[in-house]
Amino acid sequence: MVRLKLHVKGAVQGVGFRPFVYRTARRLGLNGFVSNNPAGVLIEVEGDQERVDRFLHELQSDTPPLATITHWETARLAAAGYGEFEIQPSAADGARAAVLLPDMSICTDCARELRDPRDRRYRYPFINCTNCGPRFTLIEGLPYDRRHTTMKGFRMCPHCQAEYDAPADRRYHAQPNACPRCGPAVWLTDMAGIPTARGEAAVRELLDTIAGGGIVAVKGVGGFHLICDATGEDVVRQLRARKGRSAKPFAVMFRDLRQLRTFTAPDAAEEALLLSQERPVVLIRKKGRLLRAVSPGLQTIGAFLPYSPLHHLILDGLHRPVVATSGNLSEEPIVKDNEEAVVRLGPLCDALLLHDRPIHRRCDDSVVKQVGGARQLIRRSRGYVSLPVVLPWRLKRRVLAVGGHLKNSFAIGFEDQIVLSQHIGDMDSPESLAHFEEALGDLCALYQFKPELIVHDLHPRYETTRWAQAQIGGARVALQHHYAHILSCMAEHGLQEPVTGIAWDGTGYGADGSLWGGEVLACDLSQSERALHLRPLRLLGGERAVREPRRAALSILFDLFGEESLEMDLPPVTAFAPAERAVLWTAWRRQLHAPLCASAGRLFDAVASLTGLIQVCTYEAQAAMMLEDCYDLDVTDHYTYAIEPAQDGHEIDWRTLFRELLDDKDRGGAPTRFLNTLVAIAHDAAVRVGREVVCLSGGVFQNAPLCAMVLQRLKEAGFRVYHQRAVPPNDGGLSLGQAYYGGMLENTDMVTRKGD
Ligand code: ZN
Ligand code: ZN
Ligand code: FE
Repeated sequence: MVRLKLHVKGAVQGVGFRPFVYRTARRLGLNGFVSNNPAGVLIEVEGDQERVDRFLHELQSDTPPLATITHWETARLAAAGYGEFEIQPSAADGARAAVLLPDMSICTDCARELRDPRDRRYRYPFINCTNCGPRFTLIEGLPYDRRHTTMKGFRMCPHCQAEYDAPADRRYHAQPNACPRCGPAVWLTDMAGIPTARGEAAVRELLDTIAGGGIVAVKGVGGFHLICDATGEDVVRQLRARKGRSAKPFAVMFRDLRQLRTFTAPDAAEEALLLSQERPVVLIRKKGRLLRAVSPGLQTIGAFLPYSPLHHLILDGLHRPVVATSGNLSEEPIVKDNEEAVVRLGPLCDALLLHDRPIHRRCDDSVVKQVGGARQLIRRSRGYVSLPVVLPWRLKRRVLAVGGHLKNSFAIGFEDQIVLSQHIGDMDSPESLAHFEEALGDLCALYQFKPELIVHDLHPRYETTRWAQAQIGGARVALQHHYAHILSCMAEHGLQEPVTGIAWDGTGYGADGSLWGGEVLACDLSQSERALHLRPLRLLGGERAVREPRRAALSILFDLFGEESLEMDLPPVTAFAPAERAVLWTAWRRQLHAPLCASAGRLFDAVASLTGLIQVCTYEAQAAMMLEDCYDLDVTDHYTYAIEPAQDGHEIDWRTLFRELLDDKDRGGAPTRFLNTLVAIAHDAAVRVGREVVCLSGGVFQNAPLCAMVLQRLKEAGFRVYHQRAVPPNDGGLSLGQAYYGGMLENTDMVTRKGD
C-alpha cells in the first residue's frame, strides 16, 4: 500500500483538471482526494504501487487540453486508509501562486450545441463549458471559483447546478456555467443607451444594422468591439472618420476558414494560428485588391476567427466578414462597461449590443504573425495573459517592472515566474495612465504581491518612469531600453550566459542621453556594453520626424550631399515646399531641434521615403510595414557599409549604403537590398562580438523576412541564435526584460530609494 501526496502547479485550475484526476483515480481504483488551493492543485492517492505508478503516468500523458503543468512535487506518506476518492472543496489560504488563466475561445462541443435547435442553449450567447469560455476577464480573486467571478450574481437553475455538480459532466465546476433561464442576457440600445430589443430580437436587429451599412458597438469578452461590414468601403471609411484612425489597419473577423480563404491567402502554419485555442488576430496576406479600405496601402490584413458564441451568431447571420476593432477612441484603453460604452462609443456607432455579465478586467485581442518558422506575438493579450513566463531558476526578489511608453505592458516577478500584464497601450493619455494603475493594482491584489524593487526605463520623460519615481518607499532602478529588449529575449529562452544582443527598434533612450535604436550589445545578466551601433542621423524636428519618413531621408541627404540636396529631384525633397527645406537645412546645420538618433527604424523610414513609398505616416511603424510588403525573394545582393571604430565601440556607417541605393536603377529591388544589407551587418556584428549566443529583439525583428534571414544566416555561421516568440520583440515585451534584470540583480549599488 502506497500513499502519495502530489502538489501540481501551473494552469491547472478551471480547466477540468480536478475532474480529470477524479476520473483517473476512480478508474484505477485508487482512494484519496483532490482539491484546489491558491497555489495549484493538491492530490493524495492511496493504493498499490503499480496502480499509483499508472496514475502518475496518466496524469502527465492525458492532461486535459487547456491544462499545463509547470511544477510537480511528490511526497510519500504513511497510509491513511481512505475509503474512496473525492473532490474536496477549495481552501482559500496559502501562497498565491495559482495561475490566473487566460480567456478560452469557444470549444467545438459548445459551438455545436449553439447551433442545435434541440439544445437548451440553442443560440445562447453565453454558452461555455470547462473546456472553454472566459477566465481572465471575469476572475475577481483566487482560487478560481464562481464566487470569485463576475458570475457570482447569477444563481444557477437546477439544471445548470446539476451539470456543475456532476464530476462526469462537461460542465462540472465550469464557473461561468449558465443557460437562457438563469444566466446573463443581451439587449440592444440606440446610441443614447435606450433599449430597443432583448435576447434573440436584439441579435436580429444587430445583424440588420450591420447588413444595412451601420456601425455597432458589441460588448465582448475583454471589452467592446466596434463592428461593421468589412466589404463595405463606405462604412469602413466612416468608421475611420468617427474613430479618428485614418489608415491604421482594422482587424477583420471571418466566419470560418472557408470564408477567410476567399479574401486572403494564408499558408498552413497561418491557418493553424487562426484556429489555435487563443484565437489571436493573425497577420496574413490579402488576395488581390480585396478589403482595400481595411488596410489601405498594405498587402496584409489582421484576420481572426470567432472566439465567443456571440461572434458565431453574428458571423453566421451575415455571410460576409466584419471589421472588429477595439471599442475606443484612437489609442485610448478599450471600453469595458455598459455606461462607459454609451458615453464613449455611443457617438461613434448606430447601436450598442450590451449584456449583464460584467467584465472585470479589460483585455484587447492579441496579435500574432508567423516569423522565422514560428509564431511571434506582436501584441500579447487575450488568450495568452496571464500565463507566466517560467524561468529555470528562482528570482532573488519580488520585482515590479513598469515597461515602456508605447504598447505598454508591465510585469510582476516572484519565485521563478514573471507574469506580464495584458496590453495597456500607449501611455500618452490620462486614460492610459488610469488603465495602467487600474490593471497594476488589480494584478498585485490578485497575487497579494508587494514589490521589493521597481524597474523602469532610463528615459526620464516616460510616463512609467515618472510613475515609478513617485512611488513612496520603493527601491527602484533604471534600465537602458535596448538592454531591456535583449534581457526580454534572454528571459523568454531561459538564458543567463553572456550573449551578443542585436536590439534594433524605433528609438529608445541611450546610456549617453542620445536616442539609440541600432544597437549591438555585449551583455549578460548584470551589465551591458555598446559594442556596435549605427551612425546617428539628425532627427529634423525631433519627435515629429518619427511620423514623417521624409525627415529621416532628408537628414541623410544633408549628411551625404550638404546644401546640394535642396535641389535634388527626390521624393523626400519634393515632399517639402522650398521654404520648408531651407529652414530644415539651417536646423540641420546649426543642430537646432535636431537631436542625434542612431536608430534602425529611422533607416527604414529613410528607405521608404527615398523609394517613394511614403512620406508622412499616420500610424506608428507604417513605413516599416510597407517596406516589409515589398520584400522580393529573387533579390539576393546587398549594398555596401563600413564598420569604423567610434567613441563607444564601433560605428556602422550607412553612407555608402544610401549612395548605392540612390544610384540603384532597380527601384523595386531597393527595399530588399536594404534588408539584405541589414542581414550582412547582423552577421558581421555577431562575428565581431564573437559570443556563441545571439539574441535578437526590438520592433525591427517583427519584419518577417528580415528576422528569418538573420536567423538563418547566423545559424549557418554556427551561432546559437534566439528571437522573441512568446513575448513581443517590440516595446510590449520590455517589462519582461526589466523584471528579469531586477529579479536577478546581484549588485544593488544602482538601486535608489525615494528621497535619495
Ligand atoms: Zn465549451
Ligand atoms: Zn441555467
Ligand atoms: Fe524599443
